[in-house]
Amino acid sequence: MSDGVIRSQPCPHCGSDAVWTQNAWTVGDTASAAYVCGNGHVIDPRETRQCPKCGVHDTSLLGDVDGRQQFRCAQCGEVFVYPRDIESAPSAIAG
Ligand SMILES: [Zn+2]
Ligand SMILES: [Zn+2]
Repeated sequence: MSDGVIRSQPCPHCGSDAVWTQNAWTVGDTASAAYVCGNGHVIDPRETRQCPKCGVHDTSLLGDVDGRQQFRCAQCGEVFVYPRDIESAPSAIAG
């Protein structure tokens, strides 16, 4: 079983493989995708942000940088921060 949805890091609770699953993480009435191991342990999706380079969620939280979380992608090695820089163009609406 290696179709890209199994996290490179096993479940921190029991060591089983963690599989990317839709609607696994529920908070109140909302549900979001998250890694779940075979024993039902759900890994907080805030610790597995999506890699901006290759799109997988197989990332490791390295720590905080300037108040933002820094991650490293286990698939492509990309290091990125979350939230990412927002390059918005306020009041750029013209005619
Ligand atoms: Zn587990
Ligand atoms: Zn990546």
